[in-house]
Amino acid sequence: MSGLSVLDPATEEVIAELPSAGVEELDAAVARARARFPAWSQVAPSDRARLLRAIGTAIEIGAEELAQSECRNAGKPIRDARDEVALVAELFHYYAGAVDKVGGRTIPVDGGVAMTFPEPLGVVGLITPWNFPLAIASWKLAPALACGNTVVLKPAELTPLTALMLERLALEAGLPEGVLNVVVGPGRVVGQRLAEHPDVARIGFTGSTVVGRGVMAAAAGTIKRVTLELGGKSANVVFADADLEQAAAQAPGAIFGNAGQDCCARSRILVERPAFERFLELFVAATEAYVVGDPCDEGTQMGPLISAGQRERVASYVPEQVTYAKPLPDRPGFWFPPTILTPASATDRVVRDEIFGPVAAVLPFDDEEGAVRLANDTPYGLSGSVWTKDGARALRMARALECGALSINSNTSLRVSTPFGGFKQSGFGRELGLAAMKENTELKTVFYSTTP
Ligand code: NDP
Repeated sequence: MSGLSVLDPATEEVIAELPSAGVEELDAAVARARARFPAWSQVAPSDRARLLRAIGTAIEIGAEELAQSECRNAGKPIRDARDEVALVAELFHYYAGAVDKVGGRTIPVDGGVAMTFPEPLGVVGLITPWNFPLAIASWKLAPALACGNTVVLKPAELTPLTALMLERLALEAGLPEGVLNVVVGPGRVVGQRLAEHPDVARIGFTGSTVVGRGVMAAAAGTIKRVTLELGGKSANVVFADADLEQAAAQAPGAIFGNAGQDCCARSRILVERPAFERFLELFVAATEAYVVGDPCDEGTQMGPLISAGQRERVASYVPEQVTYAKPLPDRPGFWFPPTILTPASATDRVVRDEIFGPVAAVLPFDDEEGAVRLANDTPYGLSGSVWTKDGARALRMARALECGALSINSNTSLRVSTPFGGFKQSGFGRELGLAAMKENTELKTVFYSTTP
C-alpha cells in the first residue's frame, strides 16, 4: 500500500497520514463483504433494525468528534458539520424503522397465489465524494444495510476520515465484521475496480458527471445495478411577486453554502425583470453580510474550497469584471470569494457549466414561459427553487421544471424521508426515503400453485 496525506483545506496542513489501498486491498474487501452475504441478510429483521438503531445512537454520542473531523477535513463550517452529523444519526434511525416496513405484494392470479419479495442484492459498492463526506456515505450505506446487503465503501481520498470513523463506530455498535468495509484509495484505481468487480451487484455513485459516465461503462461489463447522483446547475427562479427580502436573504446560503461545492447549489439565479435590480441589490447586501472565515468559528457560514485544484478550476471560470466579490482575509488555505456575476448571455459558460464553487450567475427573464425555458436550458436536472406568492403559478412551475427535487419559497432540497435524485445528466435512481430501499433490492416473484 502507498501513503496518503490528508489536508485541512483551511490551513493546508497535513492532519492525517493513511495507507492508500490498491486493487489487491479492494479485492480483499469485496471478498470479506461477499463472505458475509447472505448471512447478514438472514439476520432477523428486528435484530438488523436494532443494530442500525445502535449505530444511530453511537453517532449521536460521537457527534461532536465526527463534526470536528468533518469541519477540519472538508473545511466545512462547524455549524453545518453538526447539522450533517445530526442528519446522519437520523438516517440510521429512519432506516432501522424501514427494515420491517418494506415488503412485497400478493397478486391475484389463476391457479394459485403470486407473491413478490424484495430481495437483497449482495455486495453493494459505494463511491462517494468530498463535499458531504459523511452524509452522502451514510445515506447510501444505511438503506443498503437495512435491505440486507453487505457494503464496500470508497470515500474520496481528499476526505476519508469520517468514513473510517463511521466504520469503527458501526463495529463498536455491534455490526458484524465484514458487513461494512471502507477502502481508502484513488478513484481511478480502486473506484474503477469496484465498478468492474464481478462480485459486486450494484454501485451507488455520487460525483462528477464525467466520472459517473465512466462508472456506468465499467459497471456494464457485469450488468450491475447503478445509481448515479451527478452534477447540477440548479435554477433559483424569483418572480416579481415573491417575498424578495426572503428570497434574497436565503440566496447566499443556496449558492455559497459549502462554498458552492454542492450538487444542489442554486448557481443560476433567474429573476423576473421588474424585480431584477431590487433583488440584485438585496442579494449583494446579503452576500456582504455572509460570514466567510475559519470553519471552526461558530459564526462562520462559508469556509475554503476543498483543494488547490478546485480553487484553480473555479478561478478559471471567473472573468476579471464581476458584479461583486467579497474581500477575503489573507491567510493560508484554499479560499475563494463569494462572487456574483450578471452575464450578458445565457450561453455564457458560467451559466452552462457546473462550477462547483461560490459563484452565482444572476439573469433576468420576462415571463413564466421564459423562466421555464431558461431554467430547463441545461443538461442537468437535480434541484431548484421557485419563489412566488401565486400558488397556481408555483404548481405550474413545479410541474414544468425538469429536476428531481424542487422547493417552493425555500431552497431546501433534501430530507431523510423524501426521494432525492436527478433528471437528465444529473443521474438516475433515487436515494433517501423509502425509494432507497427499492434501489437496494431486487424483486422476486414466487408463484404458489393451489391446484389440488
Ligand atoms: P469525482 O467524480 O472525480 O469524484 C467522486 C468520487 O469518484 C471520488 O470518490 C473519486 O475518488 C471517485 N473516482 C474518481 N475517478 C474514478 C473512477 N475512474 N472510477 C470510479 N471512481 C472514481 O469528482 P472530483 O473530486 O474530481 O470533482 C470534480 C468535479 O465533480 C467537481 O468540480 C464537481 O463539478 C463535480 N462533483 C460533483 C459532486 C456532486 O455531489 N454531484 C461531488 C463531487 C464532485 P478519489 O477522489 O479518491 O480519486
